[in-house]
Amino acid sequence: MEKNCPKCGKKLGLFYIKETCSECGCNLMYYNMESRLEEDHLKAEAEFKKLDEIKEKLTKFLPKKK
Ligand SMILES: [Zn+2]
Repeated sequence: MEKNCPKCGKKLGLFYIKETCSECGCNLMYYNMESRLEEDHLKAEAEFKKLDEIKEKLTKFLPKKK
């Protein structure tokens, strides 16, 4: 598996161990982490939406408190 810079696409080689890209200087570790966090965030948002839908359905059946 070849490693590429996620930002500029420069080939970094299999054994490239620096944290930053030699071409554009972006932080590879942080960049990867960020995209992973973004994925998690999207997943969490989808879950949250589902939960909201369920809650909405439930509240239709429940008597409203006054
Ligand atoms: Zn780069």
